[in-house]
Amino acid sequence: MSLKNLYLSNIYETVKKRNKNEPEFLQAVEEVLSSLEVVVDRRPEIEKNGVIERLVEPERMIQFRVPWVDDRGKVNVNRAFRVEFNSAIGPYKGGLRLHPTVNASVIKFLGFEQIFKNALTSLPMGGGKGGSDFDPKGKSDGEIMRFCQSFMTELCRHIGPDTDVPAGDIGVGGREIGYMFGQYKRITNTFAGILTGKGLEYGGSLFRTEATGYGLCYYTQQMLTHLCNTSFEGKTVVISGSGNVAIYAAQKATNLGAKVVAMSDSCGYVYDENGIDVETVKQIKEVKRGRISEYSQKVKSAKYFDGCKNIWTIPCDIALPCATQNELDEQSAKTLIKNGVICVAEGANMPCTQNAVSQLIQNNIPFGPGKAANAGGVACSGLEMSQNSIRYSWTFKEVDQKIQDIMKNIFTQGYDASREYGFDGNMVVGSNISGFNKVCNAMISQGIV
Ligand code: NDP
Repeated sequence: MSLKNLYLSNIYETVKKRNKNEPEFLQAVEEVLSSLEVVVDRRPEIEKNGVIERLVEPERMIQFRVPWVDDRGKVNVNRAFRVEFNSAIGPYKGGLRLHPTVNASVIKFLGFEQIFKNALTSLPMGGGKGGSDFDPKGKSDGEIMRFCQSFMTELCRHIGPDTDVPAGDIGVGGREIGYMFGQYKRITNTFAGILTGKGLEYGGSLFRTEATGYGLCYYTQQMLTHLCNTSFEGKTVVISGSGNVAIYAAQKATNLGAKVVAMSDSCGYVYDENGIDVETVKQIKEVKRGRISEYSQKVKSAKYFDGCKNIWTIPCDIALPCATQNELDEQSAKTLIKNGVICVAEGANMPCTQNAVSQLIQNNIPFGPGKAANAGGVACSGLEMSQNSIRYSWTFKEVDQKIQDIMKNIFTQGYDASREYGFDGNMVVGSNISGFNKVCNAMISQGIV
């Protein structure tokens, strides 16, 4: 992809020089900048105020060490990060990821994407992200707790209800948030809304577990209605991953009348032509923290295949990649198209490579980018922050309704922007532009900071 606008291409060259070994971050920046050419051409004040130069450089990037003691008494040291990318429209907000692949590039790509995603929700949240290369797999509860406590011992200096409010992401669910919240409270002697995704008993939102997966289906529903003139009813769906996003996307897609035929984890995938039983997946992944391969031992009509990439060779109407970044490449996109896919929406962050996205768009397959399609999670977190501020709790039904409205609005804004700027129905360009315009306006209003 080459940028035609000189202002943007010069900035991208600088970003490349400054962030040489950060391929994921560069990929995310290039993708957004290429959508913004039309906006920069139309709005000269962007260049005059140096908006893009400031946008691509994090306001703050914190790196720290996390020492912790394992069950054998051995001292371990992990590396952790928090990027506070942009606070133009609200306190930094974004998840914490615990996974061995975490590094500065991954955290910066996620933090950068988060700026636009959060803007799309229309809630007052800036963009941030954090995490560590700690691998939670196979660790005991005690080890997880000691890691989380050590992690928060440093992180607590940098966060606060009006400064930076982290949440969960890969490897960080209710258990980890609980340990981190407890440590923050102990050190600071304050009971404050400094994390979202908390337990229901201490300020959590009743809908947070379901929010991203359900929200993804609400967004996909909009795409199906407005771009494909159809619905989930009777459709075949393939979902990668079997974590938080994947499980609740599978549950909602099934409730809406679709048949989910395949799910995966990082080792392989299961295929069941009769439709995956989500409750069984929940038992295996949420309760036992087991492997997806166990599904085929429990459900006789299901087959297990080693390796996760081939999940995209299964014919389907709707593909929802919900596992991790760059898991669906150009070849997989071509196979999906050949097999008749009608709609693809990203539950994970950047699961489709840029070439995969180009393939889908060139072939007129409606494509929902993660920053719009998976924004239900952070939208729910924004609502959790509001509830904490007013010390109140909405019901599950109330939050579900608010998320449905927000996802519909995210689709409409992106769709309208795609039409306004001459890219009818291109939700990548439309979502980038509508998210960007809000952040840009706030940055210009606040002066050069
Ligand atoms: P989880 O840790 O709950 O689940 C991740 C799932 O993906 C696991 O089943 C994991 O398998 C699987 N996985 C990892 N790598 C691969 C791979 N290469 N191929 C197939 N499966 C793989 O994470 P979440 O569900 O919370 O997050 C998933 C994605 O969604 C991430 O990109 C995250 O940033 C994004 N996201 C999450 C939100 C949330 O609210 N949770 C909000 C918005 C975005 P295994 O068990 O083997 O590790």
